[in-house]
Amino acid sequence: MDEIKFNDLGAQYHALKKEIDAGIADVIAGTHFISGPQIEQLEKELCAYTGRRYCVTCGNGTDALRMPLMAWGIQAGDAVFVPAFTFFASSEVVSLCGGTPVFVDSRTDTFDMDPEDLKKKIAAVKAEGKLIPRAVIAVDLFGQPAQFPEIEKIAAENGLKVLEDGAQGFGGRIGEKCACSFGDASATSFFPAKALGCYGDGGAVFTDDPELYKVLKSIRVHGKGSMKYENVRIGVNSRLDTLQAAILLPKLHAFDTENTHRIRAAQRYTDALKDKFQTPTVLPGYHSSFGYYTLRAADEAQRTRVMDALKTAGVPSIIYYPCPLHLQKVYAPLGYKPGDLPVAESLAKTVFSLPMHGYITDETIDYVCGVLQKA
Ligand SMILES: *Cc1c(COP(=O)(O)O)cnc(C)c1O
Repeated sequence: MDEIKFNDLGAQYHALKKEIDAGIADVIAGTHFISGPQIEQLEKELCAYTGRRYCVTCGNGTDALRMPLMAWGIQAGDAVFVPAFTFFASSEVVSLCGGTPVFVDSRTDTFDMDPEDLKKKIAAVKAEGKLIPRAVIAVDLFGQPAQFPEIEKIAAENGLKVLEDGAQGFGGRIGEKCACSFGDASATSFFPAKALGCYGDGGAVFTDDPELYKVLKSIRVHGKGSMKYENVRIGVNSRLDTLQAAILLPKLHAFDTENTHRIRAAQRYTDALKDKFQTPTVLPGYHSSFGYYTLRAADEAQRTRVMDALKTAGVPSIIYYPCPLHLQKVYAPLGYKPGDLPVAESLAKTVFSLPMHGYITDETIDYVCGVLQKA
């Protein structure tokens, strides 16, 4: 068997080579390397796909999270509620704005933000009276949307903005409502390893709010006003390259086919592994895009043993994420200690992710499951 890849971008390029190469050649021939016509085309198609009114592409997923926070004026003294079990960028953007991330524990089944714990953390911040609760960032972890119906309700009761971190969520749904259409704004990433990835860094912000849309477009280009050399606010320089838009367009057109393939692959993994491991839970009415297929071992020792066996058999596996954010060194001044968010801490010790992409074969899945069964 060929080398097993965690995410096989080569197989995807092979399948879409004609369209991608033609798109790249068009951009080079047209020389609109910044804000070329492919950008507007992509933004339109992303709106149509997600069901959002407005899309603002930008330089990366981290900026896509940061720009709405800047637009809402998140600053020192503000509390933003963020899950502890996610990629660092989800809370980093709060800190970049000067705000304070307040970490929320996870559900034990989906690993997403636990709405019950969110309520507790909001009440605690209010009772302490030091920070002003301003926003919630909920993450579509591993491809499944966070529990937005519950989270949006809690946010509304407490006057908080909701920002969907859909960096891993693109292609997921709750009922017929797509990921990147939840909350006041949504952010996604086109980092190459994401379900919809480009050939470098890229991201997008989504919203239905025309006022926010206007401000986001200004923030994207140095806080510009009605023309380029009029500056009305502090912004960033975060445009998506036209080349990346040209690469994303054919990938977006192939996305549903790849998504269906990943969902079938995930089911095949689950059928083979459900008796031995905690396999992914998809809540009733929810649909995951399975950008990642993540198992939970019984304990840290079993995870080490199993990952060693996979490595010996030539199967790459990765731990997303080995350290919950409240225990990251940089956040030591916030005063969290081990035991504060027990579910997130336990997940960091037990989860591991298996090879998953839109071109994975049944043969590969069966081989990986065979190794896991024996380990
Ligand atoms: C990848 C990721 C980001 C950041 O995206 P970049 O494009 O790398 O800046 C943010 N949040 C989550 C949950 C991610 O997985």
